[in-house]
Amino acid sequence: MEQKKTVGRFAPTPSGRMHLGNVFAALLAWLSVRSKGGEMVLRMEDLDTARTKPEYAQLLRQDLAWLGLTYDRETPPQSSRTQAYDCYFDRLRQQELVYPCYCTRAQLHSVNAPHLSDGTYVYPGTCRDLTPQQRAAFRRESAWRLRVPDRTVSFSDILQGTVTQELLRECGDFVVRRSDGLYVYQLAVVADDGEAGVTEVVRGLDLLGSVPRQMYLQELFGFPHPEYAHVPLLLAPDGRRLSKRDRDLDLGYLRQRITARELIGMLAYTAGLLEKPEPVAAQELIGEFSWKRVQKDSVIFAPKW
Ligand code: GLU
Repeated sequence: MEQKKTVGRFAPTPSGRMHLGNVFAALLAWLSVRSKGGEMVLRMEDLDTARTKPEYAQLLRQDLAWLGLTYDRETPPQSSRTQAYDCYFDRLRQQELVYPCYCTRAQLHSVNAPHLSDGTYVYPGTCRDLTPQQRAAFRRESAWRLRVPDRTVSFSDILQGTVTQELLRECGDFVVRRSDGLYVYQLAVVADDGEAGVTEVVRGLDLLGSVPRQMYLQELFGFPHPEYAHVPLLLAPDGRRLSKRDRDLDLGYLRQRITARELIGMLAYTAGLLEKPEPVAAQELIGEFSWKRVQKDSVIFAPKW
């Protein structure tokens, strides 16, 4: 049987400069794809137009070039895809798989339910079975939630092993369109990766809990499931996750102080791909790359520069 070509992707959010955690995930995504002779796609995840800027998107492209992390094509940014997302949403609506939800943020936060690692609350189903009259009485725009089945979703993450989630109990019906009309990440990412033919998704461990939702949407939209690898998060010495707030760890700051080779070497060493943190070009790591060598747990990263 003919082996399918590997298609991977960078899917950054242009809300600031790339920070070390983004570079780490991007490096591993790139090495995995290039080591299989696959294709790399870039997509700007700028759904949240209040937080993202075209200037940051441009800086992201320049930073990827500086790092030597090449891509073969760029697909349209999410901010330009509302009409496409409308079509996906209409399909769900026609099948009555989504329903309007009028719960306020305060109501949702007062719910004493367990929540997912990404901070999403397990929705208790408050608006699931409202009658048309009850819906009409709200007289305002609603969010739209996808009804999830009472089903266990299981998949094998390349790094993290078998992951299982009971959709209804551990996640609950989730929002696919907000009350202001904006589509949410879960819907957009599935539509975009599916259309781009992505076969391999490599990203930070913080998104592991999203996979079952995304797999359910892939099924509804008729896309095959990609493979997943969720890479360790880089933590600050106090155990916090490195974030865009750590300005001294973003590329704007780092590019003035260290070379791309030094940075790639340090991250490859942190990943478990080098014995020592010696300067190296991303290109030079392709031949030796194997997921078996990559470490799966989050790591404290305390560079000295
Ligand atoms: N846009 C997300 C981020 O920058 C990544 C989403 C994904 O890789 O699925 O964190």
